[in-house]
Amino acid sequence: MSHTPITRRASPRVMVEDIAIGGDAPVVVQSMTNTDTADITGTTKQVYELAQAGSELVRITVNTSEAAAAVPHIRARLDALGCKVPLIGDFHYNGHRLLTEFPDCAQALAKYRINPGNVGRNRKSTNLLAGHPGEDQFAMMIGVAIKYAKPVRIGVNWGSLDQDLVVRLMDENAKLPQPKEVAEVTREALIVSALDSAKRAEELGLTHDRIVLSCKVSEVQDLIAVYRELAARCDYALHLGLTEAGMGSKGIVASTAALAVLLQQGIGDTIRVSLTPAPGGARTEEVVVAQEILQTMGLRAFTPMVTACPGCGRTTSTVFQELAQNIQTYLRAQMPVWREQYTGVEEMTVAVMGCIVNGPGESKLANIGISLPGTGESPAAPVYVDGEKTVTLRGSNIAAEFQQIVDEYVARKYVKREKREG
Ligand code: SF4
Repeated sequence: MSHTPITRRASPRVMVEDIAIGGDAPVVVQSMTNTDTADITGTTKQVYELAQAGSELVRITVNTSEAAAAVPHIRARLDALGCKVPLIGDFHYNGHRLLTEFPDCAQALAKYRINPGNVGRNRKSTNLLAGHPGEDQFAMMIGVAIKYAKPVRIGVNWGSLDQDLVVRLMDENAKLPQPKEVAEVTREALIVSALDSAKRAEELGLTHDRIVLSCKVSEVQDLIAVYRELAARCDYALHLGLTEAGMGSKGIVASTAALAVLLQQGIGDTIRVSLTPAPGGARTEEVVVAQEILQTMGLRAFTPMVTACPGCGRTTSTVFQELAQNIQTYLRAQMPVWREQYTGVEEMTVAVMGCIVNGPGESKLANIGISLPGTGESPAAPVYVDGEKTVTLRGSNIAAEFQQIVDEYVARKYVKREKREG
């Protein structure tokens, strides 16, 4: 089936070590740790897990001297593990001090995230721009970025928007013959804060292609409105994310709804899905969701996708549910190995269907499909490979036999990579 291609909004390419954001680079997946960065072992472990799950950039909070001192050690341990994922430092309030007092931290990080609303206020400064209450601190952080040739994300957030700027825009709005809605003025404040800060960063000497912008809010419609406007008013590379998306299905659905609309319009060069993990839940879930958003929209391919029917009264057993779940888990677990060995496996499609009604049809459309027997059907599961029925599985060992068929298909179909040097 052909699709209307998505035309990406033009933006300069921002290099974060080897990872490109914007330009014609694919949309990049990033994530953030929730460990105490001062805990070197715990943070290294979580960054490694996020990177293994597919996060191409990982952000860590740098909020204290202990955290800043830990950063180069975390980088060194990741390097020793062969994990090259670039680390982004998230700074608020005291970033100017941490970046200047801990040069090894400034050097070890690949990018700095600066929130203009939380840069930190210096009442003594007489040279403050509107929207930049902590101008001295902002200039100090940009100075460090220039010194170490690091890109910066100017990340404005609804929850920490500069209140002086909001008050100024509200006052100006009140004087208009037809004042705008409060929500509209607040959205404008987000955009103005980001654009003014970016302009100021460039005036300080940071180059245009070292700046990424974000304006995160927690409501889907607000996010869409803000990013449409921001995208129209500048060409900076954009980081997309619905902030405080929430837990479980609510967080996933809200993030997907917001990001999908914007990505479809070509807006967004890197994404993060801000999920709150369930107690004991895996932090890596946010990476899986981000990848699945991009893959289901046809923007990128990360891991083979399983098409499974929802099941209905025609198949009352849980056999097909278990098979669908097992094969999806197997494909995701196997992908790091296959990625090293073969090219293109991530584009493979697998169908697991519950009965004869849609089973053969969907199975033929996938690279590999299996149509399990529904209630009352003969206990046989035909397997289709590239549209052709190849074998019929029977008995209690269907799951293992199907997995073996998938393994053999991968080995036969995809081009083996050359062994990497060293
Ligand atoms: S393929 Fe069969 S079991 Fe699955 S939803 Fe359709 S009718 Fe129901």
